[in-house]
Parts: sequence; structure tokens; C-alpha cells
Amino acid sequence: MRIWVDGGLRDAADATVSVLDHGLTVGDGVFETLKATDGRAFATTRHLKRLARSARGLGLPEPDLDEVARACEAVLAANPMPLGRLRVTYTGGTSPLGSERGDAGPTLVVALGEASRRPDATAAVTVPWTRNETSALAGLKTTSYGENVVALGRAHAAGASEALFANTRGQLCEGTGSNVFVVLDGRLVTPPLESGCLAGITRALVAEWTGAEEAELPLDVLAEADEVFLTSTLRDVQAVQRVDDRVLPAAPGPVTAKAMRVFAERAAADTNP
Ligand code: PLP
Repeated sequence: MRIWVDGGLRDAADATVSVLDHGLTVGDGVFETLKATDGRAFATTRHLKRLARSARGLGLPEPDLDEVARACEAVLAANPMPLGRLRVTYTGGTSPLGSERGDAGPTLVVALGEASRRPDATAAVTVPWTRNETSALAGLKTTSYGENVVALGRAHAAGASEALFANTRGQLCEGTGSNVFVVLDGRLVTPPLESGCLAGITRALVAEWTGAEEAELPLDVLAEADEVFLTSTLRDVQAVQRVDDRVLPAAPGPVTAKAMRVFAERAAADTNP
């Protein structure tokens, strides 16, 4: 595996990042995960823009998006595979121990892993912990994912693949690595960004291509929704067949099946929508 570190391609086994990297010591970093099919990344422009937005939100130096794009292409070209997850990590860089970011400049790492197609339907759980929609990190894709790791562990222990959070006001927010949509009396609805959820790229495309509405929804909407689905870069549109102990009437139901179809068709027609 060849990955991008320090401005060029290196063998993953030889590539190094400082043990004092601020991303490692305090989670001072941002990231993106892109899906790559046959060496071509999907929605690159949107991912790079979000990387820059997250970096700005964290107060990191503005990333050089031309370099990030070049790095992504170089890593994809060096590691051919049918379906890959391209991971861009951009951190505060090497720093003396302590809370301050050093002035050595940021670290950029681009790596690639094999991905597999996700099943059309999955199970989810709700968790008792909340997303803080007023947090300084709300809506930023930072490397501080510890809370998501804990919540996902809870999901896996329950035989599910995703954990869903409410925000501090008890409103449905998002999953650990996905956005959520529900169908209520034929209306397709997803929580607004004010809920504290990440501005998911798949979420935005699905909302645009299906005309889904944004609305605040109490967490217990999951007990009555006709259909529920998740969206993310690696899941695309994935039906939820069970939330906690509730088995949904259909997974995928008709609205979800349509969203899956529309997403697959539009994404195949334009790889950088
Ligand atoms: N919410 C969180 C917390 C995420 O980490 C992700 C994806 O990584 C998403 C939502 C979905 O976003 P996207 O569709 O851009 O992958």
C-alpha cells in the first residue's frame, strides 16, 4: 500500500508521522472519507470543501486543496482496487507536549483501504448519550471521534451496525457515521443541520434528488416512522430494518427503495455532483 505523507507517496510500512502530532495527542485534526470506485473518487469537490470548512472551524491553517486533490489521485493510481475508502487526515502537526499547537505546520495523510458493498438493510440502536448541537465541534468532521467509537461499540454489542443520537433537546440528530431519514405518512424527512448533525454529502444529495424535507423530529419518531434509512459515503442509502426492539414494517419500504434507486442512478451519471 502506498500512502501520501509529507508531500509525497511512501510505502505505508515506512511512512511516519510524529508521535507528538497534535492530531494524535489531542485530536486536533479533521478528516474526510471518500468512496472510490475503480480508482475514481465520488463527490471530490464537496469532500474537499467540507475538509476546508472543518479545518476552518477547528482553526487549522487553510488546507491546500490542490495538494489534497493531487494526493488523492496519486494514492488511487498507486493502489488499484474495485471499491476503496480514501481517507484524508489533516492535523495540527508536530507540537511540543502541552495544549498549544506547534508552528511546524499541518500534517496531511491520504490513505486507502478496501471497502465492501453494504447490505441493503441493517439494524440500528439508539444510545443514551447526546450530541451537543451547541458544541464548538458541532457539524465539523474532526478526528475527535471517541464518542462515536463508544456508541458504535454499543451498537455492535446489540447486533446492529449503527447507533443513533438525539441532541441535547431530545431531537433526532444522526448516527455515529451516518445521517438519518424517516418516512412519516409518506413524507420523507431528515433533521436540519441545526440539530447538530454533520452536513453529510450523501444526505445533501439524497435531499436534493428526492425533495426530502428538513424538520426537527423528536427521537421517539423512530417508534412510529413507517420507514427509516441511513445515508453515508460508504452506506449510500441503507434501509433500517430494526431500531432497538422495533422491527420496521418494511426495509426497504417504497420511499426508501425509490431513494436508493434515484441515488444509484444519479451518482452513476455524475461522479462529482
Ligand atoms: N455523520 C457523521 C458523524 C459522519 O461521520 C458521517 C460520515 O462520515 C456522516 C454523518 C455522513 O456523511 P457523508 O454522507 O458525507 O459520508
